[in-house]
Amino acid sequence: RAKAEGKDTYRYFEASMGAEARDRRVMEHELRQAIARNEFRLVYQPQKEISSGRMVGFEALIRWRHPQRGDVSPATFIPVAEDSGVIIQIGEWVLATACAEAARWKSPLTVAVNVSAVQLHNPNFSRKVHEVLLASGLAPGRLELEITETALVKDMPRALATLRQVKALGVRVAMDDFGTGYSSLSNLRAFPFDKIKIDGSFIKSVDSNGQVAAIVRAVLGLGRGLGLPVLAEGVETLGELKFLDAEACEIGQGYYLGRPSPIEAFSELTGVTAPAGDDAPIKPRSGS
Ligand code: C2E
Ligand code: MG
Ligand code: MG
Ligand code: MG
Repeated sequence: RAKAEGKDTYRYFEASMGAEARDRRVMEHELRQAIARNEFRLVYQPQKEISSGRMVGFEALIRWRHPQRGDVSPATFIPVAEDSGVIIQIGEWVLATACAEAARWKSPLTVAVNVSAVQLHNPNFSRKVHEVLLASGLAPGRLELEITETALVKDMPRALATLRQVKALGVRVAMDDFGTGYSSLSNLRAFPFDKIKIDGSFIKSVDSNGQVAAIVRAVLGLGRGLGLPVLAEGVETLGELKFLDAEACEIGQGYYLGRPSPIEAFSELTGVTAPAGDDAPIKPRSGS
């Protein structure tokens, strides 16, 4: 019955929708199945203290390998997942997977997880974070949630209440993509952030472009004044890193410092040498 109904609905949409809308609908459907089909995985990108080069943590970034399309960028599928609401399930998978993974690491590095606006405004969000922390055994202080300004503006009082709830668990929150949204300055004051992540677009050519340098210096001054460490995203060259070091930017992330990679690439730090889960390749054992 439901199937026949679905078919009619589909025909109706076929006729009335443009090709682009139809593609999105197909992708929504595929995203709903992708978790069960094991098509998502996480890669991790190093975050390093700039003055020492010491590793402080990783940002978890989702990857989707579609059986036919191949790798689909999160920039393409996250907006579709947000519009259709399936980001709630995907976001829970990311959170649970990243926390379970981080709990296995031999060093107490932090794990940063991106949270979309739709997740943040879901009434169950802070409860879910609590559940995931309990289930994984991860120390709450090792989890950092990355939230963009655009995620705050939809319903500021609710966003503030949710941030307070997760902070009360001992979880930290970082403002992601700082500088690309709007009313940045009042948001920094109104919300209990622990860190500012300057968007990569301001780091590109920071060492050779005076205007960009002025903006980055201003953000660093802002962080200092507010007592918030600043992380520079998208550090791609030694020149950019040197500029940031000279300006006392605390933390860096970017291809120059390390590409997003499967966690096994960082086994010296994490002690993780094989992928977790049932589909891990069978490793030949030495000895016994
Ligand atoms: P973001 O949170 O700002 O993540 C940083 C993005 O910059 C990542 O792209 C990363 O691979 C890329 N990147 C890192 N270093 C460099 C660099 O030196 N140069 C350049 N050009 N890029 C660099 P990615 O993984 O494609 O993710 C894009 C966006 O998709 C993320 O931006 C985030 O907004 C979203 N996203 C990724 N994973 C998740 C997730 O698990 N949940 C949610 N809700 N969003 C996610
Ligand atoms: Mg991020
Ligand atoms: Mg960012
Ligand atoms: Mg971004």
